[in-house]
Amino acid sequence: MGTPDSDALVFFGATGDLAYKKIFPSLQAMVRRDNLNVPVIGVAGRSWTTDQLRERVRDSLEHHGGVDQVAFEKLSSQLQYISGDYNKPETYEKLRQALGDATHPLYYLAIPPSLFAQVVAGLGESGCAKNARVVIEKPFGRDLESARELNKVVTSVFPESSIYRIDHYLGKEPLLNLLYFRFANSFLEPIWNRNYVESIQIVMAENFGIQGRGRFYEETGAIRDVVENHMLQVLASVCMDAPGSTAADAIRDEKERILKAIPSLQPDDIIRGQFCGYRNEEGVSPDSQVETFVAVRFFINTWRWSGVPIYIRAGKNLPVKTTEVMVKLKCPPLDVFQEEGKENTNYVRFLLEPEVIVALGTRAKIPGEDMSGSAVELLSFYGGGNEMEPYERLLGDAMRGDPTLSVREDTVEEEWRIVQAILDNVTPVYEYEPNTWGPPESDKLLLPSDRWYNPLAKE
Ligand code: NDP
Repeated sequence: MGTPDSDALVFFGATGDLAYKKIFPSLQAMVRRDNLNVPVIGVAGRSWTTDQLRERVRDSLEHHGGVDQVAFEKLSSQLQYISGDYNKPETYEKLRQALGDATHPLYYLAIPPSLFAQVVAGLGESGCAKNARVVIEKPFGRDLESARELNKVVTSVFPESSIYRIDHYLGKEPLLNLLYFRFANSFLEPIWNRNYVESIQIVMAENFGIQGRGRFYEETGAIRDVVENHMLQVLASVCMDAPGSTAADAIRDEKERILKAIPSLQPDDIIRGQFCGYRNEEGVSPDSQVETFVAVRFFINTWRWSGVPIYIRAGKNLPVKTTEVMVKLKCPPLDVFQEEGKENTNYVRFLLEPEVIVALGTRAKIPGEDMSGSAVELLSFYGGGNEMEPYERLLGDAMRGDPTLSVREDTVEEEWRIVQAILDNVTPVYEYEPNTWGPPESDKLLLPSDRWYNPLAKE
């Protein structure tokens, strides 16, 4: 028998940026789908009233997705605001009172990571944690040791089954489609291995800089910001074996198996870059060594993937905004048509952002006398439909007690283990011009048979 649905949603960080940009629109969407019928309690430091929180929600919706008057009014009637310092026991006393009859609340910590342990301890000491679930925002720690410490604190108050570590990337439709596409079809599986796959590239490119978040980025860098979490999760979805079912642990066990088979990355496996001009940004040190770009090469030590190079690149101020997976297939075993200058264009490509596309790279004959051809891409687009924003999906899952898309304790530690030795500027950082594909030094990572896959901007 499953655990009961949560009967209150409490979110810490109610006055913050994430709540404004993402959480309020998701709460309205949940109400619209009739998936949120419980008290919604915001907790933060500012001495606001509930009416001020309602105003903030309206303002957020006006700027992020629009106000649905009926849903907004219903959400407003469910809202309460508690003002209090997370370091003070009285805050949790007020919370207990506000919870009233609720016996299975969900706590969502949309707060700076430095406060996670404090709030979890406050919930535990005040008795608020009993029969409750907790959702923790990324980043979960800043290295292996701090992730382990945080896991210790959180699991001392909540059982692992009640902890939801969210990486909003996991709630994205394109990533779910990638998993679905791989395991709802039979034709990929026979070629999805070292016998047919030559290399795998995953690229997460942004065509903008750090957008005024210099202080944040100085503490983070590309490896911590997106490689340790989002990109390893994409990789696990591309390379994992088929789960036996959709049961939460069936999927999470397979992802964990793949991550375990990735050796800890070493300085020789990476090239770090920094876009020219980064050091002039507000909040950035004039001699900063923080990377705004990273290229990584490694192998997965499994029977299926042994010897297949995996390349990951992530960066700011690159020529396009996109996230793509390019699985390059090997050439046919015999060159029957002997075409001069022909390139191998057999591949499977998953475009995850800005659109959702699965494409098969093929060659097809050009009509005429010669047996010669050209590259033809078979495309399938997805879109429209009743798409859910990641936060709506992840919060809804947590309210229902479905942990499939949350990151397990062992997985979060495995992700940090993989990147631990490449954190904290252990290699030189090379400058690159904005609007290029990072520093040319990253070519050093390529095996002789490979070259970078640089997605084109959409026309
Ligand atoms: P903000 O700094 O904008 O908000 C922090 C919130 O915490 C505010 O509501 C603040 O309340 C409250 N707070 C801080 N200290 C205390 C305290 N001692 N007592 C009571 N309240 C306190 O952070 P963000 O919203 O940007 O980020 C929240 C989390 O989400 C972080 O973990 C971040 O990494 C993560 N995240 C953020 C994203 C974003 O786009 N912003 C994207 C992905 C993840 P008040 O100011 O009223 O005191």
